[in-house]
Amino acid sequence: MINYKELINTFTEEDFKTNRINLHIHTNNSDGEADFDEIITQAENLNYKYIAITDHNTMKGYDKSQKLNSAILIPGVEFDVWCGYVFMHLLGYGIDKNNSQLQKFFAKSKKETENDIVRLFSKRNIKELITAIHNAGGIAVLAHPACCWCLSMDRFVKKLVKYGLDGIEVYYPYPRFRGILKFHKEDSVKNAAIKYNLIMTGGTDLHKKHF
Ligand SMILES: [Zn+2]
Ligand SMILES: [Zn+2]
Repeated sequence: MINYKELINTFTEEDFKTNRINLHIHTNNSDGEADFDEIITQAENLNYKYIAITDHNTMKGYDKSQKLNSAILIPGVEFDVWCGYVFMHLLGYGIDKNNSQLQKFFAKSKKETENDIVRLFSKRNIKELITAIHNAGGIAVLAHPACCWCLSMDRFVKKLVKYGLDGIEVYYPYPRFRGILKFHKEDSVKNAAIKYNLIMTGGTDLHKKHF
């Protein structure tokens, strides 16, 4: 059994910035364009060390895949969830998709994996979700934090840490991140990661067919 927490903790800024590791990828199992197995094959051919496919609220791609044994694949998912008045995305890595506690949090319909408006109505409870991710053997990571509507990044992250947050997505393309308004700078994200001793992850939030 791979200890994903330990493994992911060894990844460096350089791994993410030189496209050796990408832990944030969507496929057509949610609102991405790529085929699940096809994107793994591409990553293998491009000599990626590790990738994680993190579709919105679903791990259905893993059910049908013929490439689950690929040595570069880390199981992942990205949940929509509210934390107080802040809508956020929570990544789960190294999780067992068959865990019954976690399965309760998966999308009940296709719309819940792709439609932005439907996804805003998420009823997931952040505290319970983090607990379920841990129960499924995984780690919980705050995705693209600069997009969160919190007033203070520090206080927001502190609250999540209290709920059991393990990591924070630090290395991602901030300035060109999907045209969404940014509320925070890269520095405030990194500072919070250091202060609360969180695992720093990264990924491009790829929605296209190719890397
Ligand atoms: Zn996201
Ligand atoms: Zn995403």
